[in-house]
Amino acid sequence: MDTIGHYIGGTHIGATAGERSAATFNPATGEQIASVLLASAATVNEAVQAAAAALPTWASTPAPARARVMFRFKELVERNMDRIAALITREHGKTIDDAKGEIIRGIEVVEFACGIPHLLKGEFSDQVGRGIDTFSMRHPVGVCAGITPFNFPAMVPMWMFPMALACGNTFVLKPSEKDPSTALVLAELLAEAGLPKGVFNVVNGDKEAVDTLLAHPKVAAVSFVGSTLVGEYVYRTACAHGKRAQALCGAKNHLVVMPDADLDKTVDALMGAGYGSAGERCMAVSVAVAVGGVGDALMERLVPRVQALKVGPGIDKDSEMGPLITKEHLAKVSGYVDSGVAEGAKLVVDGRGLKLQGHENGYYIGGCLFDDVKPEMKIYKEEIFGPVLGVVRVPELGDALKLVNEHEYGNGAAIFTANGDAARAFDYGVQAGMVGINVPIPVPIAYHSFGGWKRSIFGDRNVYGLEGVGFYTRVKTTTSRWPGGLRGGAEFVMPVLA
Ligand code: NAD
Repeated sequence: MDTIGHYIGGTHIGATAGERSAATFNPATGEQIASVLLASAATVNEAVQAAAAALPTWASTPAPARARVMFRFKELVERNMDRIAALITREHGKTIDDAKGEIIRGIEVVEFACGIPHLLKGEFSDQVGRGIDTFSMRHPVGVCAGITPFNFPAMVPMWMFPMALACGNTFVLKPSEKDPSTALVLAELLAEAGLPKGVFNVVNGDKEAVDTLLAHPKVAAVSFVGSTLVGEYVYRTACAHGKRAQALCGAKNHLVVMPDADLDKTVDALMGAGYGSAGERCMAVSVAVAVGGVGDALMERLVPRVQALKVGPGIDKDSEMGPLITKEHLAKVSGYVDSGVAEGAKLVVDGRGLKLQGHENGYYIGGCLFDDVKPEMKIYKEEIFGPVLGVVRVPELGDALKLVNEHEYGNGAAIFTANGDAARAFDYGVQAGMVGINVPIPVPIAYHSFGGWKRSIFGDRNVYGLEGVGFYTRVKTTTSRWPGGLRGGAEFVMPVLA
C-alpha cells in the first residue's frame, strides 16, 4: 500500500514520529488505494519555515525570470496531461475527459501568470510637487497558504499558486486529504520547470494542518476554497491572526428557463451542468427555475435524458458521470433525496441504490430529478453536491429573480432565453458573482476572475485575474525628491505638495 506524504523544501517527506494517516479510496471500486499522511503541527511548521527561507531570493528574482518558470511549467503540465488526468480519475472518480478539462482550466491561469511582468508594472506620476515624483509598485506579501477542496484537485490549486508564485511569494498548499496525489505531481513539475527549492511546498493533512497554517506567524495570506462553514471559520481565524484571507465557498446555482428558450439546448445545458462530475462542482446547476408554464415541456424532454444517463467508472470512455467521492458522501446525498421525498417534492427520476455490475462497492448513485420543489424544503435550501436537480416552477421572471436573490448562496446563476431584455434584466438584477446568459456554467476565463456573492465568498478579493494579483501583492508608494529640489528649513505643518 502506497503512503502519500508531503513535499517540503524540494524533497518528498515521509512520516515523522507520531504522525497520523488516513485511507484514500478509489471511488469507482471502493478499494483503498493508499494512505495519506496527516501533517502534524511540526511538519506544517517545517513547510512554512522552508517557504520563509526561500522567500527573499524568490521575491527579488526579476519578474521575467519568474514568468519563465511559469512558461516551462505550463509546457510540463501539458506534456503530463494524461498522467495527471488518470491520477485525478483514480482518486476523485470523475471521467478522464472531465479531469483533462479541469487541468486545461488550471493551465489557463498559468498562461495568465506568464504575463506577470506586465501585470506588475507600477504607476508613476511626475511633478506631484515641485521636483517631486510619486510611484507605486506591487510587492509580494510573503508566505501564502492555499487550502483546497476535493472536487478539483488540479484546477483549484492552480487558481492560486501560479498567481502567488509569479507575484514573488512562496507557497504552502494543503490539498484535500481525499485526493492528495495531484498536488505532489504539480510540485515535481514546478521543480522540473526550475522553481527553486522551498518556493512551493505541499503538506497533506486535515484540520490540524489547517489550524497550524491559520495561526502561524510567518504565513501572510490564506486562500481557501471549500464548503461554507469551514470557509467562514478559515476566513475568521486567518483574519483574527492578522492575515489577509479569501474564502470561496458553497453554492446553489439556479438556471432560469424562460418560455422562449430553445428547450433542446436548455436540456443539454442542464444535463451537463447538473450531472457532469456527479454534481460535485461549486458551479453545478442544482435548481432549474421554469418560468411561465414552460415546466411541462421542460420535464418532458428532461426526464428521459436523466433516465438515460450513463453512470460508470471514470476510466470507462462511455461514462458520462462517475461515482461520488466517498461512501459517506454517497449516504449524505441519498439522505437528501430521502428528505426531498419526505417533504413532498415529486421525485421523477430516482437514482438511489444504483449497483453497477463488477463495481458493486463503488460509490455510485444515478441521476435524480425532482419536480415541484419549494423554497422551504431542505433540498432547495442546502447544497447537496451530488447529481440531484430540482425544478421549481414560478409564474414570471420577477419571481425567478426573487428566488435566486433570497437564497443564502450567490455563486453562479444562469438564464436561458432568446429575449435580450429578459437577459439584461436578469443579469442586472441577480445577486450572484458569476452570471451565464445561455451559458450554464459561467466560470470566468483566467484574465477575468472567479468569485461569488453572499455566503459563497468571504473576503473582498476573487481568485485569479487582476483580483489574484491584488490579493497576492501589497502596494508600496514612494514619494521621491532629489537634492536639487530640497527646500531648506523645518516644516511643522502637514506637508502639502505644491
Ligand atoms: P471542505 O470544506 O470539506 O474541505 C475543504 C478543505 O478544508 C480541505 O482541504 C479540508 O481538508 C479542509 N477542512 C475540512 N474540514 C475542516 C475543518 N473543520 N477545519 C479546517 N479545515 C478543514 O470541502 P470539500 O468537501 O473538500 O469540497 C466541497 C465544497 O467546496 C463544496 O461546498 C463546494 O461548493 C466548495 N467549492 C467551492 C468552490 C468555489 O470556488 N466557490 C470551488 C470548489 C468547491
